[in-house]
Amino acid sequence: MTDALRAAVRAAMPLARAELERLVRIPSVAFPGFPVEPVREAAEATRDILASAGYQGARLIEIPGGQPAVYAEIPAPPGAPTVLLYAHYDVQPAGDGWQGDAFTPVMRDGRLRGRGAADDKAGIIMHALAVRAHGGRPPVGVKVIVEGEEETGASHLEASLADYRQILQADAIVVADAGNWKLGAPTLTTTLRGVVKAVVEVRTLEKPVHSGLFGGPAPDALVALVRMLAGLYDEAGNTAIPGLTREPWVGLDYPEAEFRRQAGILPGVGLAGTGSLSEQLWSSPAAAIIGLDAPRVEGAGNALVPVARAAIALRVPPNHDPAVAFDLLERRLRALAPRQVHVDIRCEGLGAGFAVATGAPAFAAAQRALERAYGVPAVQMGSGGSIPLIPALAAAFPGASIVMWGVEDPDAGIHGPNEGVDLDELERMALAEAIFLEELAALRS
Ligand SMILES: [Zn+2]
Repeated sequence: MTDALRAAVRAAMPLARAELERLVRIPSVAFPGFPVEPVREAAEATRDILASAGYQGARLIEIPGGQPAVYAEIPAPPGAPTVLLYAHYDVQPAGDGWQGDAFTPVMRDGRLRGRGAADDKAGIIMHALAVRAHGGRPPVGVKVIVEGEEETGASHLEASLADYRQILQADAIVVADAGNWKLGAPTLTTTLRGVVKAVVEVRTLEKPVHSGLFGGPAPDALVALVRMLAGLYDEAGNTAIPGLTREPWVGLDYPEAEFRRQAGILPGVGLAGTGSLSEQLWSSPAAAIIGLDAPRVEGAGNALVPVARAAIALRVPPNHDPAVAFDLLERRLRALAPRQVHVDIRCEGLGAGFAVATGAPAFAAAQRALERAYGVPAVQMGSGGSIPLIPALAAAFPGASIVMWGVEDPDAGIHGPNEGVDLDELERMALAEAIFLEELAALRS
């Protein structure tokens, strides 16, 4: 059966590529301030692609207060289980640094490049291909939900998941919004870190004042803020917030050379932190300073800074409560604030982490599917990132096993310039998903 599925996926690849290019051309950025028309257009294109792959009842689901989701299904043959497939059609804003236009797909250096080509429009194509490979009649029931607000961090689908319990009910959930740890190395993602977004503001003066006449005793807000931020780390560079601890990591050991290359770390620059890379990336807290409001260097007046702000993204280990993590962060920052400067700390978003139940039969079925598609056993890795819908789905459907995989390998450049998907990897992962449907059917017979 593998050979037949392999041949069917291969035969469908030219169409799959055309469909992916069609999706990439639509700038479906769902962030506030971006036009909403392309978002809806991408939802409609997704609906059409799913329908043409053999899904039934493909339609937009209007999500109150949010962007539409796309839903389609294939009813289960009698006695067979049902799987829910997830992807998202919204994308990150283009950002800077692209060679050419971010929304004009182009084949370069072995990848089909364009914003969303990997994250996560390729996930939609995977779900289409997996069903297409079965001629539209897979041996299990298949439901597919494609969300339009994953990247914004304000998923209204997540918020109103309870309303969709009935239609999304499934025995297993496949999230195609992850990737192999490196190209061609089949990988299941088993953990996600949680995330806390916070903004800290420090005020010290009524207004900017002359740095010569007042500098020294008059407290500078930027200096105070910088000291507070520095205090979030220990000497070795580990994020050190009392109460926020590491969890143990079992699974892939991330090799340093590969990590340095994938992350683009400059020659000679040392890595931060202690412990194995896997543990640091996937089961440890990590605070990043992602934004800073302070006077620009260009044209900076020679004055003390009265107010400064920083945005912090704090990743938390999979089983930590992000609300508790925010409290710990706030407590730590307040403790670090020097000389009673005025400190305001706001929580701008919380996302829970997640750990897959790796003992579930569906998880083993996914491992077998990857091995059949790639010819080598699958490894397990964590994800340093967060997909808040996953823990919400897991909570809504406690009996459903979760499988996280996809085509977002570290060199896919997701969220960065020149994002690109390797089409051979897309073909292999679509085959793995097609085989997974077969493996899932076998669990019940
Ligand atoms: Zn994504």
